Amino acid sequence: MDTINKFSSIHTPAFILDEKEVVRNINGFKSALDSLFPQNIIGYSVKTNSLPYLLRIVKEHGCNAEVVSYHEYQLALAMGFPLERIIYNGPLKSKETFLEAIKGGAIVNIENWREIEWLKDLPKDKKYGVGIRINVNISAVSPEDEACPDDDSRFGFSYESGDLRKAINKIQQLSNVRLMGIHSHREPKTRSVKFYSRVIEYVQNIILEYGLQLDYWDLGGGFFGIMPSKPSYQEYVDAFYHTLRPELRKLCIIVEPGNAIVASGFDYVMEVIDVKEHDNKIYVCTDGTRNDVDPFFHKSNYFKEFLVNDNERSIADKIQIVSGLSCLEYDRLFELPTGSNRLQAGDRIIFHRVGAYTMTLSPLFIHCFPNVYLQKEDKYSLVRKEWSEKQLLENSIY
Ligand SMILES: *Cc1c(COP(=O)(O)O)cnc(C)c1O
Repeated sequence: MDTINKFSSIHTPAFILDEKEVVRNINGFKSALDSLFPQNIIGYSVKTNSLPYLLRIVKEHGCNAEVVSYHEYQLALAMGFPLERIIYNGPLKSKETFLEAIKGGAIVNIENWREIEWLKDLPKDKKYGVGIRINVNISAVSPEDEACPDDDSRFGFSYESGDLRKAINKIQQLSNVRLMGIHSHREPKTRSVKFYSRVIEYVQNIILEYGLQLDYWDLGGGFFGIMPSKPSYQEYVDAFYHTLRPELRKLCIIVEPGNAIVASGFDYVMEVIDVKEHDNKIYVCTDGTRNDVDPFFHKSNYFKEFLVNDNERSIADKIQIVSGLSCLEYDRLFELPTGSNRLQAGDRIIFHRVGAYTMTLSPLFIHCFPNVYLQKEDKYSLVRKEWSEKQLLENSIY
């Protein structure tokens, strides 16, 4: 690994990983779960950030890998997660990996009808366990948490439509398959504690009505990480415990946090490369891109910090538009109001808490994936070198 002693030598743009922060998040969530649930599992959501070095950290700190496609499933295996430590969700399973996962003891949550058909191809010599995903309409279950009217979901089987009953019947007709778990993931925009209580109330009534004898309840993800003004892991876990009927507290409780584990573990740093002035505005061009820190282009603000050279600054008499390297007109990150210090080439801007849904969602547009450094005290070592034409040409015929 290339190691650098000075922040100023970091090749920008770059992500910077603080391993300690990720471990603090894992341990925080784990001790909250351990305080009330003798059986519990953290399944780290791989899609939230699949950087291999990060997957190794989460593996070494006891998390399972929660995967939602056969690519992620194969990545988890390649990273050394044994099948018993993989949670396989989502509609993009392949039949081959689906059957292999069930046979090998992974937690597999059935998401659609074709998977129920695939179960018929399991060997008949043994009994295999599977889970099933229940459909959750946020507007119906917890209206205060809806992101829009009729905040419905494409995933899982609906209780109200009768599909859940039908799907469970089909599974129960198979003599070599046992329904051992329920999966109730839904990501509320609010990430509120109340939402999880409401989902638990809704689902446990169905479990009791159907008389299901389960081993686990997978509550999914969607939690806040450690932030002063937000609910703590313990508050979420207390709410699970107090909402669950005593007879269901014995289940193995699974959570699938992504954001809560990785968001705060990554910074992004970019550098100002040029400044122009026209149309009564100052245009600040950087070597970073909004694709890297806000790939949905939804954020209106960032946790950011300026590292400016200490030469004298004039006050800008115009707004400064800080923008990215891409040739997209809309690759603009934020504006600084009139009266701010003028930015200059060589200044750096650091974005904090950008570990979730950034690196896995950025496109290979104009610029390849940037360097990722691991920070330990004031040393920086490269854990993923920026992609180049080599990776772009791989698998192509030309
Ligand atoms: C995306 C996803 C998660 C993780 O959600 P976060 O908001 O990152 O915690 C967990 N489970 C499933 C099934 C998901 O699709």
